[in-house]
Amino acid sequence: MADLRLPTNAIVHPDKDRFLSLSEANPFEAMMARFDRAAELLDLEPGLYKVLRNPEKTVIVSIPVMMDSGDVEVFTGIRCIYNTSRGPAKGGIRFDQHVTVDEVKALAAWMTWKCAVVNIPFGGSKGGVICDPLTLSMGELERVTRRYTAGIIATLGPDSDVPAPDMNTNERVMAWLMDTYSMHVGHTVNAVTTGKPVAMGGSLGRREATGRGCMLATREALVQLGLPMKGARVVVQGFGNVGSIAAELLQAQGCRVIAIGDRTGGWYSKKGFDIAHAVRHVEQHGTLDGYNVGEAITNEALLELECDVLLPAALENVITTKNASRIQAKIVCEGANGPTTAGADALLDEKGIFVIPDILANAGGVTVSYFEWVQNRSGYYWTERMVNERLEEIMVNSFRDVLQLSKQHKVNMRTASYMLSINRVATVHKLRGIYA
Ligand code: NAD
Repeated sequence: MADLRLPTNAIVHPDKDRFLSLSEANPFEAMMARFDRAAELLDLEPGLYKVLRNPEKTVIVSIPVMMDSGDVEVFTGIRCIYNTSRGPAKGGIRFDQHVTVDEVKALAAWMTWKCAVVNIPFGGSKGGVICDPLTLSMGELERVTRRYTAGIIATLGPDSDVPAPDMNTNERVMAWLMDTYSMHVGHTVNAVTTGKPVAMGGSLGRREATGRGCMLATREALVQLGLPMKGARVVVQGFGNVGSIAAELLQAQGCRVIAIGDRTGGWYSKKGFDIAHAVRHVEQHGTLDGYNVGEAITNEALLELECDVLLPAALENVITTKNASRIQAKIVCEGANGPTTAGADALLDEKGIFVIPDILANAGGVTVSYFEWVQNRSGYYWTERMVNERLEEIMVNSFRDVLQLSKQHKVNMRTASYMLSINRVATVHKLRGIYA
């Protein structure tokens, strides 16, 4: 069996100094640094390079909302369509106080590369509303969602731009979005969004898809490194949709999940947690606060634990130049989007840590979103088994495609996945030409 640690260890990051000098706070710069590196290795034509560095369109809308108090509040909504050369744009919508245009642009670009890396016929987009959803009532949340949808309606549609849930949005929000769009066009269009409730055309297996994809990518990485799955020590940061499901599925494969954590802090147990038990605690109490099984640890200490697999599944920018040299995992499986800064990439490479990059590791979610869109458009619904089998085929093949490229070019998995996806997008641009 191929020993991947040799080529990985041998990587001397040629852009180390440039990556280390980048701002660690700006996700668009972090995305561009990786893009530039892959573009250089691909020898991308200068014209195409310019085209792919820019989003096609960014729409910013004001969202006036009548609050429960009777006062009018105005929120800001953003939708960025990064690239649609391979198909309709695809990307989630997040509601968060800290959303910025640069963050939305970076996430839209990542969606473009993510869809291309798993070779599904979508482009990339992302949206956000600057608001604190925790302070909004259900009625206010619905009015924000419907007015935002009306504001960006010209970009939306099953053939143009298909949203999905992201941070602080869920099936409920997607149902309002789908209804608002359908009211505008005069008939029910369930393929305008994915991540809907199953009762209105959502796909079976979608809720578990991202965590399942992380489990499959981790399984492939362990095999490549010659490490057994049984007993592999796993540390998971974030215990929401992605983290808790990945943890549960990895445990089902024989791994030992030795640390879990969420926004309230972490828990460590050398002998491993019963994940179903921890999930029940979160269902009852909302968070892992008060779990009191094992030893309480901070989120910072959790990331630096000695383990086989570290699965960051919470936020961006948690592995940075400040802590990368203390990461002791053999594999980092990026469940979250952008958990590692560009500067940290170089440091993880030097340590020979095998990183499964976000655009590959967490692509299970968008893959089953694609299945949902296909099912909505054909009006024929698949069993959960069919969904999971097709997801596994795509995740495993994509992992192997990236791995092969990484060996061929002696680059890490992140650069290889950018090379694979940028090349796929560039090929379509070349075939289509520039409309004048
Ligand atoms: P979620 O809201 O269900 O869970 C987020 C988890 O992170 C929660 O347990 C929360 O407590 C924890 N968290 C928040 N702040 C934290 C902090 N400071 N320290 C430690 N933990 C913290 O979200 P999710 O859907 O699981 O998404 C997690 C990440 O995965 C995000 O980056 C998201 O963009 C990415 N992602 C999600 C999907 C999907 O299908 N849900 C798909 C692709 C990527």
